[in-house]
Amino acid sequence: MLELTFDPDARTLYAYFTPIDEGEDSDQAEFPGMFLLDAAGQIVAFHVEIGKDLPVTALRDALTHPEVHLDHDDTVLRLTFSQETPDTHVDLPYQAIIDRDRTGRALGIEFIADMEFEIAQRLRWLQPSIVEVFGSDEEGTEGAAVFATEVTSDAGAREDEVEHDEVAAPPRISDEEVRVGLVALVGKPNVGKSTLLNAYFGAKLSIVSPKPQTTRIVVRGILNRPQAQIVFVDTPGLHKPQSQLGEYMVEAARRSIPDADVICFVVDATEPPTSQDRIIAESIKKAHKPTILVLNKVDIAHHVDLYLQAFQEMGPWEMEVAVSAKEAEGIEGLLEEIIQRLPMGPRLFPEDQQTDLSPREQVAELVREKVLLNTQQEVPHGVAVEVEEWEERGERLYIRATVNVERDGHKGIIIGDRGQMLKKIGAAARYEIERLLGRPVFLDLWVKVRKDWRSDPSALHWLGYDIKKLKS
Ligand code: GDP
Ligand code: MG
Repeated sequence: MLELTFDPDARTLYAYFTPIDEGEDSDQAEFPGMFLLDAAGQIVAFHVEIGKDLPVTALRDALTHPEVHLDHDDTVLRLTFSQETPDTHVDLPYQAIIDRDRTGRALGIEFIADMEFEIAQRLRWLQPSIVEVFGSDEEGTEGAAVFATEVTSDAGAREDEVEHDEVAAPPRISDEEVRVGLVALVGKPNVGKSTLLNAYFGAKLSIVSPKPQTTRIVVRGILNRPQAQIVFVDTPGLHKPQSQLGEYMVEAARRSIPDADVICFVVDATEPPTSQDRIIAESIKKAHKPTILVLNKVDIAHHVDLYLQAFQEMGPWEMEVAVSAKEAEGIEGLLEEIIQRLPMGPRLFPEDQQTDLSPREQVAELVREKVLLNTQQEVPHGVAVEVEEWEERGERLYIRATVNVERDGHKGIIIGDRGQMLKKIGAAARYEIERLLGRPVFLDLWVKVRKDWRSDPSALHWLGYDIKKLKS
């Protein structure tokens, strides 16, 4: 993940592409650009017009981050922090500054806002990425008032909270050193990666479905223990691409491996290894990271050790752990093994934060899960959900969401006979959304047909998936 620091006094945001040593930045280049804002005026993305002055090779560190991509013939560098559709843009008052080392490699980028822009009030989507705030220990100063913690344990996350919170607490990240790092759950579709993640968190963080390839967004669950902070990255299964969206998923999964401190190679212990398992094992080994082989579904495996040797021989792995994600068996033991292999350092996130998906993204994921669960095979993966409206209406929170499908036939199935199916989906989704947000919700569901969005790059872009950012 891209790490940002914020200096409220200087109205400056700095994004690190890579850790920088003192004096390593030997030269700076300046480029015009813009802030992209959502309807509420919150920063969704930055665009920097680098033109032809920065070769793609100089951006190799930058492009390892999922937030960073190149656009328009590699002439626009984009940093995107939310899947919200931008509503307006504001030109950068000062040019964005890219720091480079002696070889020309881009190390990071600096954005400076002017006074009128009030950048401190527009950091809602950036907040999960902000690791340091200069001067934030001076409580009650203007800079410290920015950080309304978005996903808090009391779950009443309100869209307008940022405006109403006069003095919000600064992020509570102590300097204490604990075991901390990123853990990638890697494995082919359907082995139980999402189920495992959910077993650690109780609440639904990542979509789980009996159909393969349903996890599209790389979700991070953040697990806090007294002496550890474990940040899980739930990768979409590695698989052979069939459409552009498929390629995106394969790339996203590959990309999460190099960032990880520990890799859990998750396999289904009820079946012998397949060629997919072997391909994944090979890409994991290339990363040279501590890897734990996780044999899942032992609750239904007749002989756990039947295929153990075959999976072991695909290694070497640091160790093997057998679990049942579904029954939450063996998962604490696995966690201990993971923690032992993490480096020491200060926590990456405040202790009360569980996910860096925004409430809107979580709601969209819940709706999509209910659609997939209720429609069985007829509506395969051509479903994308967008939350389009989120508004206080008296007691209730009004949420309008659109289910986008590829074919007229799918629309019919989701709506069902006299709207019965949509009602059922809506009721199931609303139940979980209310549990997630801890308050009554009015869920207004719509179904729209967007033909072949999965292979249409402009539609993919519209939905927040960007092929190019991963390919470049
Ligand atoms: P992913 O594609 O790897 O994320 O897999 P999911 O977590 O979506 O799980 C795929 C299917 O396997 C779902 O039907 C799960 O209920 C099921 N599953 C996952 N873990 C277990 C387990 O430990 N035991 C059993 N019996 N089923 C499991
Ligand atoms: Mg999954």
